[in-house]
Amino acid sequence: MANTWCDSNQSEQIWFQAYLTISWISYFIAIRKDPGSPPINFEPNQGEWRRWCKKCQNYKPERSHHCKSCQKCVLKMDHHCPWTMNCVGHGNFPHFLRFLLWVIWTSGYIMVQLSKRVIQYYEERNLPAYLIPRGEMLAVVFLLPIDFFMFISILILFIRCLINFMVKGMTQIEVWESERIEGQFHTERFWRQIRSNYFKLHNKALPKLTSWRTENERIRAAEELSQEQQEEEEEQEELLEQGVVPQEYTYEDLIFPYDLGFWKNITTSIGYPYQWILPWGGPNNDGYHIEKSEEFIEEDQLGLPWPPDSGHQENTTSSTINRDIELDQIQINGRTNIQLLKKRLDPRSNMKRTEWMNDQGETLDDLGVDIDAEDADHEELLLNHPE
Ligand SMILES: [Zn+2]
Ligand SMILES: [Zn+2]
Repeated sequence: MANTWCDSNQSEQIWFQAYLTISWISYFIAIRKDPGSPPINFEPNQGEWRRWCKKCQNYKPERSHHCKSCQKCVLKMDHHCPWTMNCVGHGNFPHFLRFLLWVIWTSGYIMVQLSKRVIQYYEERNLPAYLIPRGEMLAVVFLLPIDFFMFISILILFIRCLINFMVKGMTQIEVWESERIEGQFHTERFWRQIRSNYFKLHNKALPKLTSWRTENERIRAAEELSQEQQEEEEEQEELLEQGVVPQEYTYEDLIFPYDLGFWKNITTSIGYPYQWILPWGGPNNDGYHIEKSEEFIEEDQLGLPWPPDSGHQENTTSSTINRDIELDQIQINGRTNIQLLKKRLDPRSNMKRTEWMNDQGETLDDLGVDIDAEDADHEELLLNHPE
């Protein structure tokens, strides 16, 4: 196949074969390399939230999930990749990235060579017909869009992975999770679960949560409102405070525990720069002693694991009283809060975690997670309260 477009240039042909070989090798490694599973007798530390896997009959560390295809718990599971027939997780994430990178490089190289050919055809358009290799021309016209499509789709996936783990410090599953949390943040169901989890873990009721907005911002916001509006708002807040959902705490106030900052996010996932391109380069930790950001340890008011409503959700129904308050909240100072109204009307608001789908229509199941193993019974989540 390669000869059709590269026979005129020996060195291009050699380079192409070299890139193709590296791509195949990296593909093979991405298929074979184990993402890693929790140790058989893994047990969380005293006083930590306990996550139990029904299928493995074992505790699982933070960030790990049971994969329905691999049929085991996978450390720092990113997603199950159907193209490598393997989970992408702690142990093979750098290998997966290298595989994507080599496919991008090779398909990009092919795209350049094919485009050069097309330009050549155009320049030679006045030649007699018998001098134009029709078979080759057809192959080029056929292959160019396919190659372009592959190049673009893998490039998008690669960039998405890079942004997720470098900037946010998140796996694809955690990105999905944070989208769900943002979508359900205003619901009673979500906060009832948080309150229940907080009680189980700390043996006391959830304290009043406040926003991280600085005091200056608060003052400025207050100044913008007239005296009358302020009084009205305070009255409103007092009324709302009686509800389950905290009113001064926003989604932005929630700290993601595993975002260690740009550089540390990179090194904990794919190692140091000299390891990035090495076929065996990997992360610098075991994948089950999970480091949390200092910001989370120092400032987090919830003191709960990720996701804060945990892997299971109790059935809760919102009372009529609180429903009235919710409707009041949409109409603050006679203005309709469109964003809030949109969220309220979103049918996903009260969906269970196992049913929820993001804007792309992806469920937890689509990312490869075994939903039956994920939704652990409460009896199995007994906590050890620190003495
Ligand atoms: Zn498991
Ligand atoms: Zn898997």
